[in-house]
Amino acid sequence: MDTYNIPETMKAMTLVAYDKLELAQIPVPKPGPGEVLCRIKSVAICGSDPKMIHGGYKFANWPPYFPFIMGHEWAGQIVAVGEGVKDFVPGDRVAGEAHAGCGTCDNCKHGHYTVCLNYGKDGRDGALDTGHRHYGFYWQGANAEYNVYKVSALHWIPDNVDYDVAAMNDCAGVAFHGVQLAGVSPGGTSVVMGPGAIGLCAMMECKALGSGRVIMIGRGSKLEKARELGADVCIDFEKEDPVQRVLELTNGVGADEVMECSGAMDSPMKACQMVRKTGTVAIIATYHNNEVLIPANTVNFNEIRIVGSKANPNVSEQVLHFLSTGAIQGEKLITHTFPLEEYEQAVDVFENKKDGSLKVVIHP
Ligand SMILES: [Zn+2]
Ligand SMILES: [Zn+2]
Repeated sequence: MDTYNIPETMKAMTLVAYDKLELAQIPVPKPGPGEVLCRIKSVAICGSDPKMIHGGYKFANWPPYFPFIMGHEWAGQIVAVGEGVKDFVPGDRVAGEAHAGCGTCDNCKHGHYTVCLNYGKDGRDGALDTGHRHYGFYWQGANAEYNVYKVSALHWIPDNVDYDVAAMNDCAGVAFHGVQLAGVSPGGTSVVMGPGAIGLCAMMECKALGSGRVIMIGRGSKLEKARELGADVCIDFEKEDPVQRVLELTNGVGADEVMECSGAMDSPMKACQMVRKTGTVAIIATYHNNEVLIPANTVNFNEIRIVGSKANPNVSEQVLHFLSTGAIQGEKLITHTFPLEEYEQAVDVFENKKDGSLKVVIHP
């Protein structure tokens, strides 16, 4: 078993108030029972991160306090294990998930731990600690040199996958959960709306699962990226009506399944209009507010199934395998890397899509 020199303190990027980040020197956390301490090697910035920085998740109580350490799309190496940890040892290379369920509620017992019934009951402020964690959202995250994780949130990284690519596990997993819920029809037609990192992963995953044709809807350089990564048809919604075009491409029948990854307020409506009778629409994106319209009569007449898809439960093993085989071309999603000290600049490049940025990775 390897041993590691673990320092007393570490660098951490902390959110001290909305729109105010500070590099801090803080104690290295200690793993409790069933937990391990990880040296964080790579953390990717997620679309949710800038939103949280700006106070866009006050309704969800993210972050619950200041100063707060964000970051949830990470990979690193185990350097110490807590009491009772058997499977993992120091030296193991692991990729993380943001969610660790309580493990005992009815949803967790059925494997639905991202919708744990004990969400947020974490023992803070004298509340009952059910063991639920949502790292980087209401529990300390990965924008630091070290962090502690429950082993249920960890997966071994295949040898040929580096830490930066392994940090794509979360994003690719969010896509894959939606793709699985939609149920790709082998040889059929899949539509992905929104060629951001999640949409691009969904597109590559549909192909890996045997979709006959994947149509990507988007615009600009990201749509070009989709073409480069293997989308069969790219529809620029600024140049043509995506609903009309999908119907034309399918002889008026519609797509077998639509993965909505764009977050545009009118996309769920369009998704229902371009999917075939008895087709499925997976809502993978989140929206500025809850007042999104769907064509209820069309949903009824056409027996359309709409499924919500939250985060990435039970998909990391498959996704890491796909990152290993190249079915998901993780390295092509990463456009920039920055040290932890330059986190603010990294967020700016990511958020404002500077020089074609897609996934921006931090090296703490
Ligand atoms: Zn994320
Ligand atoms: Zn639970």
